[in-house]
Amino acid sequence: MHEAERTGTASDTAAALETGEGLDRLDEEAVRFTSELIRIDTTNRGGGDGRERPAAEYAAERLSDAGLAPRLLESAPGRANVVARIPGTDPDAPALLVHGHLDVVPAEPSRWSRPPFSGEVADGLVWGRGAVDMKGTVAMVLALVRFWARGGLRPRRDIVVAFTADEEDSAAYGAEWLAREHAELFAGCTEAVGESGGHTVHARAADGTPVRIYPVGAGERGTAWLRLSARGTAGHGSKTNTDNAVSALAAAVARIGAHTWPVRLTPVTRAALDGVAAALGVDAPAAGFDPQRDTDALIDGFGAAAELVRPTVRCSSAPTVLEAGGKVNVVPDRASAGIDGRVLPGAEEEFAATLDELTGDRVQWEYQHRSRPLQSPVDAPVFAAMREALLAFDPGAHVVPVCLTGGTDAKQFAELGIAGYGFSPLRLPPGLDHGALFHGVDERIPVEALRFGARVLDRFLRGPS
Ligand SMILES: [Zn+2]
Repeated sequence: MHEAERTGTASDTAAALETGEGLDRLDEEAVRFTSELIRIDTTNRGGGDGRERPAAEYAAERLSDAGLAPRLLESAPGRANVVARIPGTDPDAPALLVHGHLDVVPAEPSRWSRPPFSGEVADGLVWGRGAVDMKGTVAMVLALVRFWARGGLRPRRDIVVAFTADEEDSAAYGAEWLAREHAELFAGCTEAVGESGGHTVHARAADGTPVRIYPVGAGERGTAWLRLSARGTAGHGSKTNTDNAVSALAAAVARIGAHTWPVRLTPVTRAALDGVAAALGVDAPAAGFDPQRDTDALIDGFGAAAELVRPTVRCSSAPTVLEAGGKVNVVPDRASAGIDGRVLPGAEEEFAATLDELTGDRVQWEYQHRSRPLQSPVDAPVFAAMREALLAFDPGAHVVPVCLTGGTDAKQFAELGIAGYGFSPLRLPPGLDHGALFHGVDERIPVEALRFGARVLDRFLRGPS
């Protein structure tokens, strides 16, 4: 950091920070960096096919300009990660990890109304693949770190900034590798903030009034990608065959696809139900609430906010792959299938036992890829600080912890004992569906959302001024 340290003084109110040249430059850089990062094509096609290095170099340069000493760490040629530490003012405070991924999912240009890697800024929006997922956030963090350097400002806690490769595939070249091979860079970190949360969801209260909800990720279902296989007796398709592998497998897949998993409320999903109900003025679960009987009806009453909780009150198991046979008059001796399973915290054993039952005696199943569920405390001071920062810039909104349907890099850092939260603050206007933008066609982000996000992050990371 430059010059004399200065933490915020009492006169530095949030309102005062809304003005001035420093903030203009923070805004300008957040927008420009988003646009420039989008122009660096970091498409991750999976299976090791990706190249984040140019974006990592871009980020490292901007961190160096801010007086930091970023490490550029390559897990394989072209697969680069960046980590830097910003010393806080309180040496006794544990460090906080702020992470964002540099890769993006593929984009099919013919379906877009603007070229997906243009980074064009038009009509108050920055366009392109990665705008919300999640180069916008990476840009906000870069701009913020430079804002602090210019102003001689410092966060209270040590902040470790990590920009990763390969989040959109297995994280094998990114966070998983970093956590395993370079754990020392995260020393002292007790909590982390990353993607999936902190954005506006527009809903309506029971009486019709518009309500703004900010979900903050405080849990993730675990991943259980399964491979099912059945063996049988091969033979001619015209003969009677009571040991047909295809029939056995198909029956098991059908049972799995049709299975309704029981409601399992975890501390996070329970807090989500209570929080959304309170925000909408709907009666919250009270005495006599029977999760199996009453949860679906309660969620149905949440309207536009229902999807914040509906997918995560249960485990799930979606059949996705079928492989068997090759010729219509030949019964093959084996058949296999893939199932995308997602498992709630605490439900791992139940999930496995249910799979044993659903597959039956004829079909074997095994984990092809497995990652554990995550659950972070929703009553921790860090959660209160995220809520406070959001409400400082959007008074009257509601901040609600949610469990994520799938996984993020937070899972990898959890291996180091770091509690992960989904917090990439963005204020979105009604009509811009955050969920649809993720991995979607015409991904874009409002300039205003980036301005808001940079301010909320600043307040969260430095504390109320
Ligand atoms: Zn993402």
